[in-house]
Amino acid sequence: MAHPAAPGACERTVIENCAIATVDADDTEYADGHLVIAGNRIESLGAGRAPEGLENVVRRIDATGRLATPGLVNTHHHFYQWITRGLATDHNLFDWLVALYPTWSRIDEQMAHAAAQGSLAMMARGGVTTAMDHHYVYPKGAGDLSGTIIRAAADMGVRFTLARGSMDRSEKDGGLPPDFAVETLEGALAATEETVGKHHDASFDAMTQVAVAPCSPFSISTELLRQGAELARRLGVRLHTHGSETVEEEQWCKELFGMGPTDYFESTGWLGEDVWMAHCVHMNDADIAAFARTKTGVAHCPSSNARLAAGIARVPDMLAAGVPVGLGVDGTASNESGELHTELRNALLINRLGAHREAALNARQALRLGTHGGAQVLGRAEQIGSLEAGKLADLVLWKIDGIGHSTIADPVTALVFGAAAPVTASFVNGRQIVEDSRLTTVDEDAIARSTRDEARRLARIAAES
Ligand SMILES: [Zn+2]
Repeated sequence: MAHPAAPGACERTVIENCAIATVDADDTEYADGHLVIAGNRIESLGAGRAPEGLENVVRRIDATGRLATPGLVNTHHHFYQWITRGLATDHNLFDWLVALYPTWSRIDEQMAHAAAQGSLAMMARGGVTTAMDHHYVYPKGAGDLSGTIIRAAADMGVRFTLARGSMDRSEKDGGLPPDFAVETLEGALAATEETVGKHHDASFDAMTQVAVAPCSPFSISTELLRQGAELARRLGVRLHTHGSETVEEEQWCKELFGMGPTDYFESTGWLGEDVWMAHCVHMNDADIAAFARTKTGVAHCPSSNARLAAGIARVPDMLAAGVPVGLGVDGTASNESGELHTELRNALLINRLGAHREAALNARQALRLGTHGGAQVLGRAEQIGSLEAGKLADLVLWKIDGIGHSTIADPVTALVFGAAAPVTASFVNGRQIVEDSRLTTVDEDAIARSTRDEARRLARIAAES
């Protein structure tokens, strides 16, 4: 594979005096180490100070009191929900969806852009360097929603996968969304193919990729699942959807199709190493074995699962079986915080409430889920997800010598068990996008105002219709 050098590839940034958790295959850590970024790649890293005599060093960072980790990778989200946070707060999934679909169906391009900025900003300032948006609401006449979301990520400098979603099973066909909120089968497939053609970049250092992502069994036809899988494989892109989220979904699948969600997915071509699914809470041993056999990935979303009372995904069993697992924020209408770094802690704690108790997950496993695991399920583990020479320079410096963390026994434990650690610097593709917990590429305060305005505009339009 060609690895074209980025502009300014010879410029170096040297980071020294920090703890480093590489999350490589051996979980290599350095108590006091250095990293050298050259262009958009990690050139070298290791214990002690950086090598002497490096040329073209444009910046030296004394990272004393910091922990360096790979940038966090978010594997499931719905950006548009940023402008519908805090609604239907005491509902289960199906009731929550039915309560919110009518409002969501009124979004337009300006709202989608503001909501994408809000979602991205919240994650990026908390250490996310690769984001994804599973966007599946495309009302007629709403404008270029996919394009505006992709622009928001590019402007902020965040690496991004758009999972181009779709819905074609509305209430009249036994689905959950209202009739006016869905696309036709042909329309959804054509628009998805067009989005891949226009925006998907297959190169090593791609900043934008596109996946084919029909929404969920209860909002799409069997044909959309089947033809969506065929389309993705013809185009060479990945597949994403929601699966096995709740007991109600499992019952719904059994009543309609005579089988549970995993068997239904398998029957439509939806298990495979090019597929990742959100949630996967209600999985029996055979389901987990099928995911492991086919290397189907999972986006584990612990806070959203708790918020909607969906249940506890069997992450320790999945990992033991060899299923690739990453972490997801999920949409912020079911996880108002919108942060991923807090999901490291929540994944660990919630899984300890499950069957494996104190042996469920440890701090290093939680960090791995949020970094390398995420890169795996997005199909990008060769390029990102761990700190290794030759990989893309997506990395975060966390402040762990402040009041929140200075007395916690070791840096990774501080990051995962402690309070949300401040991000003192975050780099994506070698470019710094966060400095001292503030985004450097966009105006956070302006985004706070524009997203509030768009949330109010959407509420007004929804109330009038
Ligand atoms: Zn979701």
